[in-house]
Amino acid sequence: MSKVNKIAVLTSGGDAPGMNPCIRAVVRTGIYFGLQVVGVKQGYQGLINNNMYDMNERSVSNILHLGGTILKTARCMEFKEESGLEKAYKNLKNRDVDGLIVIGGDGTFTGAERFSRIYDIPVIGIPGTIDNDLYGSDFTLGFDTATNTVVEALDKIRDTADAHDRLFFIEVMGRDSGCIALRAGIAGGAEAILLPEKETAIEELIENLKSGSNKKTSSIVIVAEGDKNGGAYDIAKKVKEHVPSYDVKVTILGHLQRGGSPSSFDRVLGSRLGYAAVRALINGETRKMVGLKGNTIQLAELDEAISHHEFKLEQDLLDMVDILSI
Ligand code: ATP
Repeated sequence: MSKVNKIAVLTSGGDAPGMNPCIRAVVRTGIYFGLQVVGVKQGYQGLINNNMYDMNERSVSNILHLGGTILKTARCMEFKEESGLEKAYKNLKNRDVDGLIVIGGDGTFTGAERFSRIYDIPVIGIPGTIDNDLYGSDFTLGFDTATNTVVEALDKIRDTADAHDRLFFIEVMGRDSGCIALRAGIAGGAEAILLPEKETAIEELIENLKSGSNKKTSSIVIVAEGDKNGGAYDIAKKVKEHVPSYDVKVTILGHLQRGGSPSSFDRVLGSRLGYAAVRALINGETRKMVGLKGNTIQLAELDEAISHHEFKLEQDLLDMVDILSI
């Protein structure tokens, strides 16, 4: 097992609250254990463009509470090409970097896995995506904060829905994953939750909305953007056609779900995962993801984290939705 001396850290894919606490943990843990730490700007683009800088303990002062990522992030097509991978390798080698930590989602891990199979630089992945769609970690960085943001918005919209006796359709992020929709829907008391993982017929939705034992005058329906019925506008239109008496409104929460100060959960998770990733590199691990399982930090194979898309939605939460909204 060769000793690691100098590590690089980058954030890639969509930004997620908790990335900054995680970068801070990587930098300070690395320095504590005698490593040099290089920060890479703009994800894989920075590896290719040689956009990197030496970091010290103070490089990560006062960032714990900030959303986004001080290292910036990017989606980099060139890293998918062999020539891009080679440029990245040469730039890392020229700086004597002998370990890489990538914080991102499944695309980021796909790139990292491929890179470290071709070149001799060990790589550890940290799950950083608001979608919570990676196998090997119960939670990903940013998911908790994004869910809290959605719940805060729901609470506000509920005031208006109630005041005007309206039916609101609220679209939340999640192209392939209904994790945000499900948790926010339960926490915000949604009447129904439409998810990419579970098909819901419009007729069934209308039946649910009508079936309350004491008829409700206002309701909130959460729609994950990847739901098979189309977006919230399409669904609202179809419902209005079936029940013209409903006063229907639509809100798309969009990018406000990504940013904002990380919750205490995401700060602690980011700190734990950053610390664990550095220790994994020191212990000679490569092509692994550090994740939270139960309440312990565990390592998973990077290729399993991306290929094994288990159904992550908790069955008890799914079962509860209709019952708690009667
Ligand atoms: P999020 O879940 O927030 O979208 P992500 O990590 O899945 O995060 P992507 O845009 O899918 O975000 O991937 C991030 C970057 O990873 C890409 O811009 C690209 O540079 C790299 N990447 C993705 N797929 C591959 C691949 N097959 N080979 C090499 N690099 C890849």
